[in-house]
Amino acid sequence: MNTTDSFGTCGTVTLVGAGPGDPELLTLKALKAIQCATVLFVDDLVSSEIVAFAPPKARIVYVGKRGGCKSTPQAFIEKLMLMAAKEGETVVRLKGGDPFIFGRGGEEVEHLREAGVEVKVINGITAGLAAATSLGVPLTHRQHAHGVVFVTGHAKPGDAGTDWKALSATAHSARLTLVIYMGVSGAERIQGELLSGLPARTPVAVIQNASLPTQRHITTTLGQLASAISQTGMASPSIIVVGDVISSIALAAEHPDAVRAA
Ligand code: SAH
Repeated sequence: MNTTDSFGTCGTVTLVGAGPGDPELLTLKALKAIQCATVLFVDDLVSSEIVAFAPPKARIVYVGKRGGCKSTPQAFIEKLMLMAAKEGETVVRLKGGDPFIFGRGGEEVEHLREAGVEVKVINGITAGLAAATSLGVPLTHRQHAHGVVFVTGHAKPGDAGTDWKALSATAHSARLTLVIYMGVSGAERIQGELLSGLPARTPVAVIQNASLPTQRHITTTLGQLASAISQTGMASPSIIVVGDVISSIALAAEHPDAVRAA
């Protein structure tokens, strides 16, 4: 499995999806990779029970924002992984959810491969999927939704970000469920723009800490989204699901301030 280059024996890097939080949602492949690691670079939102699967001798490096610290710059994380791989370590990069859904996994893979390091990727259950399932809501449904869009509510600095108006029109005409990551802090703006193409009565659910014992959610409508979030104090990490698939639990929309444990 190891490759050699001008630096001598080169280790491997595996990007591992840790899933949404519940350790039982880890894949067997992910578990095996964690158990083989000699060094782990651990992101925000990866639960400590999952990190505990690492061998006792493994070095664990936290690179997230937990504890109010500034997150480690992406370029520095990549440099650390590269150095560890060049030293022959078995590197695991543990990322929340799936490494290839808003986890900057794509950038990491590109940079490591460019530097001649072998990179593997192990999928994890992405938060948007787990969040909907935790409410018993399917993201697609022959009656309600013909497809699903995973979309970020948070643009890269300097980037115009998601074209919510275009997306809302498409979601309406093509009957798509929208699963919005990192959308809570920008909910008011997102709501305003989505209302250009979707009716105010469109059902919405916001799910915080999906799959964890601290999970909670609200159901509301697009027209009341921002006020429901501020009334209930829903905060990051949360997923916002917009679409008729939520209608099975939409009765609660009559009580947008109701925060219920799942
Ligand atoms: N790669 C991750 C997403 C990283 S972006 C994945 O596939 O899930 C981080 C965002 O994911 C958070 O801001 C939040 O919107 C969402 N998120 C991650 N874990 C979550 C959880 N347990 N519950 C709700 N949302 C979560």
